[in-house]
Order: sequence, then structure tokens, then C-alpha cells
Amino acid sequence: MRFAFALGVLIAFILSACAQSPRASSDTPALSGERAMDYVRTQVAFGPRPPGSPALEKCRGFLKQQLSGFGYTIDDDAFLAQTPYGPITMHNLIAHKGKGEQGVIALASHYDTKLMEGMNFVGANDGGSSTGLLLELARVLADKKDALDYWFLFLDGEEAFVEWSTFDSTYGSRHLAQQWKNQGMVPRVRALILLDMIGDKDLDIWYETNSTKRLMDLVWETAKKLGLNSILSQTREPVGDDHIPFLDIGIPCVDIIDLNYGPQNSYHHTAADTLDKISAQSMEKVGRLVLAMLPVLQK
Ligand SMILES: [Zn+2]
Repeated sequence: MRFAFALGVLIAFILSACAQSPRASSDTPALSGERAMDYVRTQVAFGPRPPGSPALEKCRGFLKQQLSGFGYTIDDDAFLAQTPYGPITMHNLIAHKGKGEQGVIALASHYDTKLMEGMNFVGANDGGSSTGLLLELARVLADKKDALDYWFLFLDGEEAFVEWSTFDSTYGSRHLAQQWKNQGMVPRVRALILLDMIGDKDLDIWYETNSTKRLMDLVWETAKKLGLNSILSQTREPVGDDHIPFLDIGIPCVDIIDLNYGPQNSYHHTAADTLDKISAQSMEKVGRLVLAMLPVLQK
């Protein structure tokens, strides 16, 4: 009897320990693709959001409100960009908690949409999806206590006004990279993960060859470990995007992008880039992938 009782106590103890272990080991709320999708719906409802537009201003207000609700300090990095349409005031938003004294892992997306005159270009995928997921990642990581701080960069003016060139594109990232260089931030930013066009229902992430190889390899290895092989593309190509100015100043960067959107990329920069072309599941897969990369980057 005594043995049976002791055994019973032992079993009860083990069971209760088991029951508690999932809660004890996870200190982040679950990432939700549906919530990321809600954040995209809100952005799309503002309409086309090119730099300097009232719609982008509203979108920025929404991002600030959400991010401060998650407890972040938000730096509004406003600057005057010289564009083919003349000077336009742009705003990068940098949401953070720590000051990055031990180092920073930056997560980034552009939140502007391309100026498409005479077209109702709402950028559900291009601008919307990565911004929605970045906001969801900011929510999930809000109370995470890791050695390196997480900084969330909402970049303005990624898109070209007329034609993509060194001078007409990536206005926000070029500005912020220059600031970081001047401030001596470069050695502190250990990695920058850029998200762009990650909402496609038919998601296939490119092996983007401008990215820092070890980070792109980490994307590949991590996706495979998570059983997400289906989102990895055969395409290995360089893409011009917001990571380039940060790579240029010596920050390791990776661009997680699917630049094959619709048949023959026919939804890209067209009025077809609407909510029905993207999915919560795709965003959730990329979100899980990013979260699983972070412990490796913390080492
Ligand atoms: Zn674009």
C-alpha cells in the first residue's frame, strides 16, 4: 500500500510537472496568421499609400497606436527625400524597448505602396503583408527577454516613383543606414531580417543572392526543420530591396521575399494585388520561420 501510495504521488507529481512544462518553457504568445491578416485588412482599407500621402499618414498612425499598445518606444525618423516628384517628407518608424546596448536583431518591412497613377493599387501583398506580419511579430516578441534587443523597422519609400535606380528607390532604408553609420550603430546590429511580399497564397521564397549567405542558408535550414520545404523556391536570384543600404554599411542581412506573385508575376505592381490573393497561412508560415531563426541569431 505504502509503495502504491508513494508511486501514486510520484506519478501525480510527474503528471503535474508535465502539465506545467509547456507553459514554463514558452514565454511568448502564439503567432497568429489571422491577426497578421487583420493588420493587412486595416492597411488596405486606407487605400493606396504612397510616400507623403494622407493614407500613409493614417497607416502610420495605426502602426504607432498598435506598437505603443504593445509597450514599444517609437522613434519617428522623419526626413526630406529628393524624389523625381520633388522633395517629399518620409518617415521611418523604429519600434524598440531596449537601447540595443548588448546588440540588436532588426526585423524590417517597407510600409509604403508604390505610386501608381490612375490605378487603385492597394498593395495587399506588396507593402501590406510584410507590414502586417512585422506588426504581429512585434506583438509576439513584446515581452521577450533576450540578450540582443529586437528592433522593428517600418521603412518608408522603398518603392521607386518612376523607375527603380540607386537614387529612385529605398529612400527610407538609405536614410536610416546613413544615420546608423553616423551613430556608430553598425557593429551593434548583428542581423537584419527583411520581409517583403510574403503573403502570396502560392508562397515560394527565393534564395535571394544579395543576402548574407549564412543568413539565407539559415532561412533554408530552418524552413526544412519546420517542415516548410513547400515554401522554398528553386529560384536563386539577386533582388534590389531595402536590405542593400544596410549590407553596404556592413550589416549582415537577409531578404525573405517571393517575387513571383501570380501567373508570370502578373499581380506585382498591378491593381490585382488585393486581399484575395494573399493568405493568413502564408504569413503564419513566414512568421514561424522568423521566430525559429531568432534563437540561432541570439548565440
Ligand atoms: Zn513593390
